[in-house]
Amino acid sequence: MTDPADVPPGIQPVTAAGYPHLMSPLALGSLTLSNRVVMGSMHLGLEDKSRDLDALTAFYLARARGGVGLITTGGFSPNRAGVLYPGAGRVTEGLADDHRAMTDAVRSAGAAMLLQLLHAGRYSYHPLSVSASSSKSPITPFRALTLSDRGVVSTIDSFSKAAELAARAGYAGVEVMGSEGYLINQFLAPRTNHRTDRWGGSAADRRRFATRIVQAIRAATGPDFLISFRLSLADLVSEGQTWQEVTDLAHELVDAGVTLLGTGIGWHESRVPTIATSVPRAAFAELTARLRQEVSVPVVAANRINTPEVAERLLAEGSADLVQLARPLLADPDFVGKSRAGNADAINTCIACNQACLDRTFTREPASCMVNPMAGRETELVIEPATRSLRVAVVGAGPAGLAAACTAAECGHRVELFESSNHIGGQFDLARRIPGKEEFAETLRYFTHRISTSGVRLHLNSTATVELLREFDVVLLASGVRPRIPDIIGVDHPSVLCYPEVLTGAIVGQRVAIIGAGGIGVDVAEFLTHSAGHQDDLANWQRRWGVTDPADTRGGVMTPEPPDPARTVYLLQRRPGRIGATLGTTTGWIHRASLRASGVQQISSVTYERIDDEGLHITVAPSGSPLTRRLPRMPRILRQTRILAKQAAALLPTTGKAEPRILPVDTVVLCAGQESVTDMQAELMALGVRVHLVGGADVAHELDAVRAIEQGTRVAAGLGR
Ligand code: NAP
Ligand code: SF4
Repeated sequence: MTDPADVPPGIQPVTAAGYPHLMSPLALGSLTLSNRVVMGSMHLGLEDKSRDLDALTAFYLARARGGVGLITTGGFSPNRAGVLYPGAGRVTEGLADDHRAMTDAVRSAGAAMLLQLLHAGRYSYHPLSVSASSSKSPITPFRALTLSDRGVVSTIDSFSKAAELAARAGYAGVEVMGSEGYLINQFLAPRTNHRTDRWGGSAADRRRFATRIVQAIRAATGPDFLISFRLSLADLVSEGQTWQEVTDLAHELVDAGVTLLGTGIGWHESRVPTIATSVPRAAFAELTARLRQEVSVPVVAANRINTPEVAERLLAEGSADLVQLARPLLADPDFVGKSRAGNADAINTCIACNQACLDRTFTREPASCMVNPMAGRETELVIEPATRSLRVAVVGAGPAGLAAACTAAECGHRVELFESSNHIGGQFDLARRIPGKEEFAETLRYFTHRISTSGVRLHLNSTATVELLREFDVVLLASGVRPRIPDIIGVDHPSVLCYPEVLTGAIVGQRVAIIGAGGIGVDVAEFLTHSAGHQDDLANWQRRWGVTDPADTRGGVMTPEPPDPARTVYLLQRRPGRIGATLGTTTGWIHRASLRASGVQQISSVTYERIDDEGLHITVAPSGSPLTRRLPRMPRILRQTRILAKQAAALLPTTGKAEPRILPVDTVVLCAGQESVTDMQAELMALGVRVHLVGGADVAHELDAVRAIEQGTRVAAGLGR
């Protein structure tokens, strides 16, 4: 492929301010990569149907042009049993023809591609799933069948055939998915492998399936084909692998012919967060560093590496030979090019929220990115020069207003952004104050940079008036939301605060009731139970979640030791059912576990009676009929089922007597949702001014940053056409 001295097309040369280790080339078999970034596998929802191949190609091309040297696709099963769900991507005879144009295009843009081979095993969402032994995972509804000896051999054969087809399709290699609790990992761990034949029993026998797969692929594809094996460094489940078993496997894989070793952390069923925003950056890199000491092939570090500084540090200190970035390349396809140019401030940093990527993948919606709505829609949502340059006023510098203002300016409009406070950020400025959500500050840093480069004129401490706004061709009202003040007797009592006051430093008592248990109520509970100014360092975080060294304990997990909560907190909602049911699919469980660990008392089915000097008076309805209690726990086959179940639960009659209670609290915090601020809309429209509402000003009841940023971008991109 590229000569080591070559710089891929479109990439600027390394500057003195750049990242020398990150940007140094690396020879991998017959390839030479121009930098140390590997794009990790992500399932975008565009892999499954051939009609989406153009969109998938555009997505990868944007990352190749942005400077990534090696791109891994989303997971493709080598056979029918291993698909993630019915209709999910798998390698078929047609792959060689179907994917050829994509791999050719990406190669001409300077990047090589690896096809990820992923057999989901018992994580397959269908009734014909198979595993090392018959078992059901806690996160899927189906019990997997035991693979027979013949089945194991034929599965190995399907991996090697899939690799051959990948080679014919123009892939430089394959990544064999051996981590995150998928089939190969299921063979490796005693948790799921109870066999006594040649594929189980001893650790050496449990490893045989993995090593035979690599041997078979190498035999089928020849010496130049890249084989990456993604190894689970710490399973983070009980009865996972020991460190000795991990390193023994690494040695055997090298002997079997792998070109490089990728790394994964934790099974999907693990109760330890591994990629959420609250996980410290590069939290698991120490294990990669230890693995690197063991083997002769390059090793890739992964998980929560989202800035060039972190990547450079890991490479410079010898923790890894390459870094894997997945979501950071959703957030910014030009991460590598901007790093190369020493322009890290311009990077749109992934804040590990999962809201538009993984949460959507789990509900089978196409993935995108909260901070970059163009991700996955490269053919559809394009920022390009407008045919007519307009004078555009944007009111409000929250996420929607920032996205709208910058996009409009980049399309060639003359944009002025009015913000009544002395800083940008809106709800993001509040979110960044929540312990574990500090990454949200990166988005504000990015927009600060983008405002300056796009030419937006920002007016802080500036309340826009109708008189001022009527002079513009278009007004984008991104004036956001105000907290809803619920109609409760005593809501004006001195003990009552609204959540923005709490998050910006108001004095809060030791015993607190939070009214409203949506995303913000849960965040405020986390804020109040953490000690002021406390941010977990890595050791504290590991204790909080029960992470230990897999060299000491099988799987690398122990009993969590959360710190004592800073306050007594009650978190309340009127609806029945569990608290936090509306939180994101991939992060809700983390928040719920955190609330439990902090002793937050969660009360549903509440009626608020009054607030007075005694505290908060409530009535709690009984938890409901047996049917009501069971409905929310129905199998989650479809999102719709859940929604219907919740609606039905709310309608069903409850049994027993309502119970009056007084919560003896010093402070009551209102997190009861929001209302749109649209103050000037009617007046401006009456004057004939073209007005668009964006973000919370448009829809407050589902105040959602993903929607806000996308809407701001789309509305602005459509102006002047
Ligand atoms: P929300 O999710 O709509 O929750 C509002 C809460 O207030 C609910 O618990 C609601 O439950 C209660 N409530 C509504 N009207 C009330 C009234 N009149 N009196 C008393 N209680 C009332 O809104 P949010 O918490 O403000 O969050 C807004 C959005 O921000 C979310 O939709 C989410 O997209 C986003 N967000 C998400 C996260 C996260 O996922 N971690 C974090 C922060 C924000 P009852 O009606 O049952 O009492
Ligand atoms: Fe990162 Fe959030 Fe974007 Fe996903 S949606 S790539 S986690 S910023």
